[in-house]
Amino acid sequence: MTAVTQHDRAGIRRVATLGTLATLTMLAAASPRLVAAQSAPDYQRIVTAAYEKYKNLNEGKNADYIPALAKVNPNLFGIALITPDGQVYTAGDITSEVSIQSVSKVFTMARVIQDSGETAIEKNTGVDATGQAFNSIVAIEKDKGHEMNPLVNAGAITTTSMIGGGSADAVWSNIMNTLNEFAGRQLTVNQEVYKSEAATNQRNQAIGALMYAYGHISANWAQAVDLYTRQCSVNVNAKDLAAMAATLANGGMNPVTGRQVVDARHVPGILAVMATAGLYDNSGEWLYATGLPAKSGVGGGLIAVSPDRFGIAVVSPPLDSAGNSVRGQKAITEISTALRGNPFISQAHNTIAKKR
Ligand code: GLN
Repeated sequence: MTAVTQHDRAGIRRVATLGTLATLTMLAAASPRLVAAQSAPDYQRIVTAAYEKYKNLNEGKNADYIPALAKVNPNLFGIALITPDGQVYTAGDITSEVSIQSVSKVFTMARVIQDSGETAIEKNTGVDATGQAFNSIVAIEKDKGHEMNPLVNAGAITTTSMIGGGSADAVWSNIMNTLNEFAGRQLTVNQEVYKSEAATNQRNQAIGALMYAYGHISANWAQAVDLYTRQCSVNVNAKDLAAMAATLANGGMNPVTGRQVVDARHVPGILAVMATAGLYDNSGEWLYATGLPAKSGVGGGLIAVSPDRFGIAVVSPPLDSAGNSVRGQKAITEISTALRGNPFISQAHNTIAKKR
């Protein structure tokens, strides 16, 4: 009696297994990606887990040298990850906006490289680390404005001065269009942040004047500083920043809009500068921990790029002493480690990744 029951059960199991296999085979024939997707990492679970792990972390402090930034809600925390096939994974607050700040420097650099070629940047600002704070004047003086890069203030203000267009309005629309194309939607300027920074950016004015004095800015340094300040005040949410990062992860094509924003051949140089200087004088430590080209902003945004794998962004305003989002660094490190996003890991021999 028992034996018969067991036999029956086994039979039923076998039939069920065969049925499932048949269904899977049919589905696989119809859609090969369905089967491939089964072995793909669970992006959503990994993103959610990092959000949960760090949502109550209370380290760091909002930037306050730009008065409006001190007023931003420090609890705001959102993560977004976008893959080259346009899948979007998010956790937390992905609609609240913060000012893009220094993350914008990457895209102004991309515009200048696209329009004028890499050599324009190489010759003018250089593509080297300064090892100094992002707004260092010593770094300018040391080499008369050479031997730096477009991701520190001196290099970024100079890069903004190199954007084509002529009139301030034309240059501005060029900058705005570039940011919009990377984000995949129309962005707007946070007027409060813009006015607050414009009223307190005497140090950046000094930097602009010095870069003019050394011949890196060819004319109208005050206009370059003003446009740079406006560019830093553009509002973005975590998803916008992730789309911008994912565009760089996807050879310059925005994976959500399908538009080629910068030529693929220019992307490696852009990512190299991000790897060298994206987190200022903490760039080496960041690269050592993650291997990811990245860029931070004092508004609390942080983007990172794993070529062909994902673009990721976090918005969380409290910063460490170098000016980088604390939760941003922790969450991205955690997620990228889980996804084996470090491009220095051999995909064929990824023992380091497996040990983690
Ligand atoms: N607008 C800011 C400044 O020039 C940007 C700095 C940053 O995000 N690190 O000081």
